[in-house]
Amino acid sequence: VVAEVIVDIGHSNVDRIFEYAVPEGMTLCAGMHVLIPFGGGNRMTEGFVVGLSETSAYPAEKLKKVTRVLEPYSIFTQEQLEIARWIKETCHCLLVDALRLMIPAQMRGGRVHEKTVRTVTRALTLEETREAIDSLTTASGGCRAPVQRAVLEILSGSDCPIAVSDLNQMAPGASGALAAMEKKGWVLIGDQNVYRRPYQALDRRQEPPQATPAQERVISAVTGALETGGEFLLRGVTGSGKTEVYLRCIQSCIERGRTAIMLVPEISLTPQTVERFRGRFGDRVAVLHSRLSYGERFDEWRRIRMGKVQVVVGARSAVFAPFERLGLIVIDEEHEASYSSDKTPRYDAREVAKKRCELCGGVLLMGSATPSLESYYRAERGEYQLLTLRERINRQPLPAVQLVDMRQELAGGNRSIFSASLYRAIRECLHKGQQAILFLNRRGYSTFVSCRGCGEVLRCDRCDVSLTYHKSDGTLRCHYCGQSRPVPAVCPQCGKPFLKHFGVGTQQVEEAVNRYFPTARVVRMDYDTTQKKDAHLTLLNAFANREADILIGTQMIAKGLDFPQVTLVGVVAADATLHVPDFRSAERAFQLITQVAGRAGRDEAPGRVIVQTYTPEHPSIRFAASHDYEGFYRYEIGEREKGEFPPFGDFVRFLFVGENDQALQTESAAFAEALRSLLLRFMQERGIGEETLIYLCSCPAPLQYIKGEFRHQVLVKLRRDKESGMLLELMGAFTRSWEGSSLPVFEVNPQNML
Ligand code: ADP
Ligand code: ZN
Repeated sequence: VVAEVIVDIGHSNVDRIFEYAVPEGMTLCAGMHVLIPFGGGNRMTEGFVVGLSETSAYPAEKLKKVTRVLEPYSIFTQEQLEIARWIKETCHCLLVDALRLMIPAQMRGGRVHEKTVRTVTRALTLEETREAIDSLTTASGGCRAPVQRAVLEILSGSDCPIAVSDLNQMAPGASGALAAMEKKGWVLIGDQNVYRRPYQALDRRQEPPQATPAQERVISAVTGALETGGEFLLRGVTGSGKTEVYLRCIQSCIERGRTAIMLVPEISLTPQTVERFRGRFGDRVAVLHSRLSYGERFDEWRRIRMGKVQVVVGARSAVFAPFERLGLIVIDEEHEASYSSDKTPRYDAREVAKKRCELCGGVLLMGSATPSLESYYRAERGEYQLLTLRERINRQPLPAVQLVDMRQELAGGNRSIFSASLYRAIRECLHKGQQAILFLNRRGYSTFVSCRGCGEVLRCDRCDVSLTYHKSDGTLRCHYCGQSRPVPAVCPQCGKPFLKHFGVGTQQVEEAVNRYFPTARVVRMDYDTTQKKDAHLTLLNAFANREADILIGTQMIAKGLDFPQVTLVGVVAADATLHVPDFRSAERAFQLITQVAGRAGRDEAPGRVIVQTYTPEHPSIRFAASHDYEGFYRYEIGEREKGEFPPFGDFVRFLFVGENDQALQTESAAFAEALRSLLLRFMQERGIGEETLIYLCSCPAPLQYIKGEFRHQVLVKLRRDKESGMLLELMGAFTRSWEGSSLPVFEVNPQNML
């Protein structure tokens, strides 16, 4: 038998199958992790067995032998091997990179091991223990060996083994006394294999509420498909009980003996979320996310692989959970950009989930209050089955949203960050002892130029995205097509000299709050204040425990959090979200305002939402204020069609990163030229009209220099039609075979243009 092995080396030179002989007596299966001699020097190298075959093109005596099997089980399931091959094809990456996605990184190179802990068990009956304690007592009532006595007292409370480390906590010095106690036959010392469990303390059973008729309809549609497979998009307003729907569907799935994956955005994976799932499914749930320690992640992964759990709750990469008999994948907040990986391989968890469900005959359920345009478009065309929850639980009204026109504030002489309405609302809220959230889009990196007089935003006439101000040379640049021009002196729309680049940051808002409301207690949550491990949970807890009156934050506070005492939500600068140079900016703005507004009035006290903007007439803001998803979708899908953006066009970017700016520029220009002639030749051969290629250019990336490296890019825009898929494949193949000094990062419709 011959083993087909992918070596665990991330280089395109070795990204192919190497054949190894399986020595006599070794049992090997596809998916196993092995040690093999590799290369001229026969260095011991790790590898993954992706297949077995009876024959080889090489004579048997020429094949090297597999040295050793590293784990006594397949670390990849058959289905995962298939998914890895599919990712290699669709994400244009190395097979080994795709495989690495599916196992805890620390498994490679033998860096994590199963953990055993030293434990102590009582060897005596309770009565004997009493006697032993007495034997330590002196005639005068003192104690000969206080530590031993303390250990015996602790052990008398339990029949189970206790970890020595725990015992040491309760009785300092205990480990030193154990040897003597073991000799006397009082205790047994042993080693026990343990799984490190995050959130151990959280298991608390919760009784499910009675599902509402609307929830019931959704649940039965989804569970009805568990036998046959299916793809669903659930649109449910904030607070409509989507999570309860997910819980019921998962319940039904595991009752059928199958397993389920629940994906949530990293940022919503709080202890509260985990508690909801643990509360329902107890020990049958594993949790996977990036804040786990290496050991915890490895152990959770192993519990899944060994079939000890049936449900996984996790962020993006949990879509690769090594389940067998997978029956359901749920994706909450389906529209979140974080489902798309920003590192190579640039996979999209939604697409991986779809593929996995196809392979295993499972059900895909994606839910959101504001589904992504692309998904809703698919649902409209019948590719996904659309389900809706139109009302909040208990028919609670959605909060009223008040729009404030900041142009009028300026005309009225108010130049502060707060409009008169927002100022008064904050004052009133503090006065009543209630809590407020002030929301800002990211931390002031939004650098578009707008007119404070009329609200006009300077946009690229070719791409219809807002232009970005580059401080270094004072120019305006389009992040899509690379065009640049100087900042005009006056507004092209109203002629007034109020052009200003926009950038209110969270810090400025905090300063303003301190100035106007000096007694208010403030928590600020942004990138800067959440860098330490668990900082973001600490801050949220402080706010939840009412240690602060006002929470100021970026989009990381927009979703998933339930703060009953919050009665006011202020969106300080809605425009900052609106004019991010990105074809999805209108959609993102709509989603953010809708989500933020959903934070208010989750409890009895009615909620109030104030949105400050220079462009209250903008559809994203108008439709979000009236909670009208359908209206927004109709508008925006029309815009996408006009602009030939997804789902009507595809936008491809090739990013070159390197230390030598000049060389990079030359290389990306050469790449662009070679790519252009390849595409044109191919299109001509296939009779594809020239209009399919909308443009192709090379230019500096929006962020030209990050962490000591320069960045250049080649941008291509294609009209989407029957043939454009072929062009994308062609570009992928071209990229992989590019023989320049660096391989560019190839992305189709990237979530982020920086
Ligand atoms: P969503 O995920 O759509 O925002 P949730 O599932 O978080 O909504 O539900 C909102 C609130 O309503 C939660 O506090 C939840 O416990 C409660 N809830 C959900 N379904 C029901 C139900 N059938 N009966 C009573 N309360 C419910
Ligand atoms: Zn442009």
